[in-house]
Amino acid sequence: MDKRGHVLNAAVLAVGLGVLVRPAAEVETAVTVAELFVPIVLGALFPDVDTAFGTHRKTLHNLPVLFVFLAYPIYFANLQWVWVGVLSHYLLDVLGSKRGIALFYPLWSREFGFPFGVPVRSRWSPVVTVVVTALELALAAAVIHWLPPTMAEGALTLLGVR
Ligand SMILES: [Zn+2]
Repeated sequence: MDKRGHVLNAAVLAVGLGVLVRPAAEVETAVTVAELFVPIVLGALFPDVDTAFGTHRKTLHNLPVLFVFLAYPIYFANLQWVWVGVLSHYLLDVLGSKRGIALFYPLWSREFGFPFGVPVRSRWSPVVTVVVTALELALAAAVIHWLPPTMAEGALTLLGVR
């Protein structure tokens, strides 16, 4: 996926998550969208920093990097939501490219992708972006609305989402 696709995905994801978390369509909804927008977009852009520093699709496209961003809200009470952008970037690179990413780097350099991944510059790339974004929002809605409230609240609090 190219940077445009990552930013569009992150922007729609931030708005969608803001509405899911604060569905009342009041000022709080707009404030939540604003709260999520910049961290998620920055998280979606971060992995491709390895085009300049490191090896692209390896150095910053792996699970240890994602765990670092998951740990920040838990241990330092900051960088909430950035992990959402990073995770979404990974999904788009796995599904929206032929190449895949090195999930277990630096332990294992093999790049993992889906066999039906589409080339980054193909006409199907925007379709993959829309489908992945819709699936991400559907999964978030399922977590927020269908899990037992104590489990959903606990998971969201642990991840710094609430
Ligand atoms: Zn990438």
